[in-house]
Amino acid sequence: MIYLENELVACQKCKLEVEGMAEKGILTPQELKILKHPRRILEANYPVRMDDGSLKIITAFRVQYNLNLGPGKGGIRFHPEVDLDEVSELAFTMALKTSLTQLPFGGAKGGVRIDPKDFSESELERISRGYVREFWKFLGPKTDIPAPDVNTNSKIMAWMLDEYEKIVGEKSPAFITGKPVEDGGSEGRDKSTAMGAFYILQEEYKEIENKKDISVAIQGFGNAGSVIAELLDEAGFKVVAVSDVSGGIYNKDGLDISSLKKFVYEEKNHSVILFDGGEEITNGELLTLDVDLLIPAALGGVITRENVDEVKAGKILELANGPISVEAEKILEERGVVIIPDLLANAGGVIVSYFEWLQNLDNEHWSLEEVNEKLKEKILLAYKKVKELSEKENLSLKKAAYKIAAKRIIGAEKV
Ligand code: NAD
Repeated sequence: MIYLENELVACQKCKLEVEGMAEKGILTPQELKILKHPRRILEANYPVRMDDGSLKIITAFRVQYNLNLGPGKGGIRFHPEVDLDEVSELAFTMALKTSLTQLPFGGAKGGVRIDPKDFSESELERISRGYVREFWKFLGPKTDIPAPDVNTNSKIMAWMLDEYEKIVGEKSPAFITGKPVEDGGSEGRDKSTAMGAFYILQEEYKEIENKKDISVAIQGFGNAGSVIAELLDEAGFKVVAVSDVSGGIYNKDGLDISSLKKFVYEEKNHSVILFDGGEEITNGELLTLDVDLLIPAALGGVITRENVDEVKAGKILELANGPISVEAEKILEERGVVIIPDLLANAGGVIVSYFEWLQNLDNEHWSLEEVNEKLKEKILLAYKKVKELSEKENLSLKKAAYKIAAKRIIGAEKV
């Protein structure tokens, strides 16, 4: 966290993003003030007992960027490099995402500065429970609802829920989402991010009858990337390339995605590059393939000033958070490349988290079909609003999405 011209700046990127919106006339100078800073920043440094009896001080954060639209919503990540700037930036994105998709939530995010590989399972459990003991007064079903993120999972959510319920003395499954289904988790949460993106792509390409004519390259073959690859393949799209951290694989006639998924996950070969169904390419080469649709689904900042001139895809769906730098985005827009922005493209996850919260509050359990039907309805509503505004005001989809999201948050500000 730094001070610039006597102004507290917890998140440089948030400041730049909102200033960019103000420059383009999307926000007025007064509105800019509201969105420029996180509303509430919490930091804790708490002791945790290690298995050998020693104590370690654990640094953790919760940032509630904005709560105008309802309780905070956002995951908790465990990562050795997590800091306030990163958590604030992620909380900012959550605030815009929940607003864009018309959820009754604000935006928040949490982080614990550890490398989970350095700790035993029982130590991780004590770290997770400690997080709840530090922040519980600022969390809760009607206050701020955490979820999993990088290096956290349903087991960690179950420990955190148990700790919270012990403190408040009552069952409270709506405290956290991303739980195991037997603890009140929702059907369909595991595939929801890719599913939301898939519904958008179905709509985007509805005019094209023969989906085999649409070639797709996907960077990342994890939770988001492998599921979108499978859904597109099943719907007839031609997925010609996928990659993971070790590299990529390419077949101009289309990859056999179901065999590839089995190869990586069921047969535990761990990387797509060992699959015998295409030629090996690098991650850099994948991003510059001559395809109709490119889906970055791994990391942020992969398309930048350095490689943007080589990117040939006509359309890009941002399944990862922030895969295109601000400079590269400008260049792509000038070239007429359509970018389906992360705020919209990967919102399926938070939408189904909202469904989990609703089910918990009402003591209900919805079927997978019901979850997917409601997800489709909600994400397509947001997509249509973005499309309409982009056409009406001649804005890119990204700027239209930011405008809708920011205006809704600001409209709820009562000062
Ligand atoms: P994951 O850990 O399941 O998979 C990540 C994939 O990226 C893996 O295949 C990994 O090998 C690959 N990868 C890692 N480093 C790479 C590198 N340097 N180059 C190329 N590939 C690399 O993660 P995920 O849940 O699929 O998330 C992927 C992206 O989607 C992230 O940006 C995440 O923030 C975003 N996202 C995910 C969800 C969700 O619900 N899973 C929701 C919203 C946004």
